[in-house]
Amino acid sequence: MKTAVDKKLLAERMASFPELCLRAGIRVTHQRTEVYREVAATLEHPDADSIYRRVRRRIPQISLDTVYRTLGLFGEKGIISRVSYPGDRARFDGNTGQHHHFICTKCGLIRDFRSDALDAVRPRLKNVPCGRITSVQIELRGLCRRCARA
Ligand SMILES: [Zn+2]
Ligand SMILES: [Zn+2]
Repeated sequence: MKTAVDKKLLAERMASFPELCLRAGIRVTHQRTEVYREVAATLEHPDADSIYRRVRRRIPQISLDTVYRTLGLFGEKGIISRVSYPGDRARFDGNTGQHHHFICTKCGLIRDFRSDALDAVRPRLKNVPCGRITSVQIELRGLCRRCARA
């Protein structure tokens, strides 16, 4: 299964990074750029530890703590999004556009997919007890192809 985003999309994401930081009011640093690159380059929705391992290949002196803080900052500023996976660590997503998630309940694989049918799902409610609804993201769970074959 494909794990890397298209080169063209990655180039677009990297080109937009300084603008995203500017809008978020944060400085562009080499470390932040490399942390962003790892999230932006993959379809895997990695957790902080795997991002740390990948960034360390290029910046051996970076600390796990810095990676955690950077991911937290990016999440807070909407530069990347956080995906919660029940009972697991936070996972991070370079795709901040409208999309839905498929989650494999066996191996924890998380993949994006687009669906006009799911985009069209509109709750009849405008509000729920905890707040006002502004968008809908649907999370589908099941077994990925590999786990289903096993
Ligand atoms: Zn699976
Ligand atoms: Zn996603």
